[in-house]
Amino acid sequence: MHEMRLPKTILIGEDLSGVVAERLAAYTSRVLLLTSPTPHKLLGQRIESEASSHLEFQLFEVSKGSEPDIEMLASEARRGGSGAILGVGGGRVIDVAKAVAQLAALPFICVPTVASHDGIASPMTSIRTGGRAYSRIAVMPTEIIADMEVIRLAPRRYTLSGCGDLLAKYSAVRDWILGHKETGEYYGRYAAHLAYLSSIVVMRSAKLIGSQRIDGVRTVVEALISSGVSMGVAGSSRPCSGAEHLIAHALEYLRPDSSLHGERCGVATIFTSHLHGANWMRVKRSLEAMGAPSTASQLGVDEETLIEAIRNAPKIRSDRFTILHKRPMENGQIRDILHETGIV
Ligand SMILES: [Zn+2]
Repeated sequence: MHEMRLPKTILIGEDLSGVVAERLAAYTSRVLLLTSPTPHKLLGQRIESEASSHLEFQLFEVSKGSEPDIEMLASEARRGGSGAILGVGGGRVIDVAKAVAQLAALPFICVPTVASHDGIASPMTSIRTGGRAYSRIAVMPTEIIADMEVIRLAPRRYTLSGCGDLLAKYSAVRDWILGHKETGEYYGRYAAHLAYLSSIVVMRSAKLIGSQRIDGVRTVVEALISSGVSMGVAGSSRPCSGAEHLIAHALEYLRPDSSLHGERCGVATIFTSHLHGANWMRVKRSLEAMGAPSTASQLGVDEETLIEAIRNAPKIRSDRFTILHKRPMENGQIRDILHETGIV
């Protein structure tokens, strides 16, 4: 049996705090609100005041550097009588809220305030334990409400990180096809095409996105949501995460705070596209046209660290066959490709 998990409602627009308050009322009269300081100030407080006549909020702020206790939050939600989980914030808040909603078995209303990665609309969650992030399947958001007025105000770096996460699909889908051929694993043509489309749209819109116009940011948000949905259709992160994500994760373990997830994915996609014999130059030019990192130094890492990450990457998920498992490489071979592609 293959289960597809899809969001019930997706709303994209401007000035949506009143809409969020209205949508919540359809589920419950008490909500656990998970947010962090800036998103709370920008949007969470507005939602609270719009809903003050008909909703009560249990508030929990996810602070930087701390690791929230998912079990404690889920039992707080249940004990407090909350009938829904509302996540207002960036990637980390959304990840935590998704995991809490799953454990508490409550509807999850996802209100992203940045467009930095495709977790805003996916059933996957990445939670840090003991300093290491791991990704697992949780729940698809019940509703996704993207307020462009807030997202467009986020630092440009976050939106460009989202683009790196989208370009990753150019390589990830090739890994999925490869894995299907090599191991006979399930391959979903529709989910693969949907994810792949996001990378193509971003390449075609690179200049528009680079110009920082609102329609560029909106394109990124729509592509991220569409990618997340492709994971819901596939029932896993397979269409969106291949060898380039393994390199990005390996790099995160070595240098946790030197770059954003999508920035690492974008640079790694140049490398893995080269391995696949795909048009790596197009990936690189797109990143450059947008103003996103396309080199190791722009990620804040040196050549040796990047080589170490690429060597470590296949060990991160040996169950997910990728081009890195097909073509094990020595340091010299990696170095040659890094130089040829201008990553180093
Ligand atoms: Zn990603």
